[in-house]
Amino acid sequence: IVSFREVQKSYDGVSLVVKNLNLDIKRGEFLTMLGPSGSGKTTCLMMLAGFEAATHGEIFLNGKPINNVPPHKRGIGMVFQNYALFPHMTVAENLAFPLQVRKIGRAEQEAKVKRALEMVELAGFGARRPAQLSGGQQQRVAVARALVFEPDLVLMDEPLGALDKQLREQMQYEIKHIHESLGVSVVYVTHDQSEALTMSDRIAVFNDGVIQQLSGPDDLYENPQNSFVAQFIGENN
Ligand code: ATP
Repeated sequence: IVSFREVQKSYDGVSLVVKNLNLDIKRGEFLTMLGPSGSGKTTCLMMLAGFEAATHGEIFLNGKPINNVPPHKRGIGMVFQNYALFPHMTVAENLAFPLQVRKIGRAEQEAKVKRALEMVELAGFGARRPAQLSGGQQQRVAVARALVFEPDLVLMDEPLGALDKQLREQMQYEIKHIHESLGVSVVYVTHDQSEALTMSDRIAVFNDGVIQQLSGPDDLYENPQNSFVAQFIGENN
């Protein structure tokens, strides 16, 4: 569904934070970009979302080059760590927003919002404002909002980073369940090894702007290809 071809990114015109990235993401897969802080994961996601331009190379979505396609025309859902919900809108209005942008009719909007809220087990919360929800519930709303227009690709950048351990594990399970039941492709960014190993079909381990290894979780754990991967995967496990 996504191909990065020789993609490079520099913010200052000098140093490359993403170096000659080649990566094919399969339709329906849960692909995690894992690596330490500053390794270039978020930058890759921002280029895929269209919020940052590649300095060199091309990104393809469904076989088409998208370097010149603006973010809202890419049809990609997004979830970030800080939720980015609109505080002055109700939960239902937050969910309806991406549908309004896409000029979807009122009745269909209502049906889609209802379905998305049911999916994240928040039926009945539509009239509340984000401040009237717990952190976990807010993050569920953010997930629902990313899925409400039924994209075939969703990007998630450290979506569970602000949650406590117990809630994080529950949300990992819920996100995985949604991924499997909808068949949606997910590109997930985290620096948490165990989260990546639990959730992913494949993991791209980043360090210093380069993918060090691209493997399934078992293979990554059992056959790290270099000392960086071995050490990084070994930490906290
Ligand atoms: P983290 O998990 O901390 O977000 P990351 O692996 O996602 O790390 P990036 O956020 O992609 O890494 O950052 C890669 C490098 O690019 C870092 O050195 C960072 O300081 C730099 N960088 C990121 N965004 C910008 C920006 N908007 N302007 C300038 N430099 C940036």
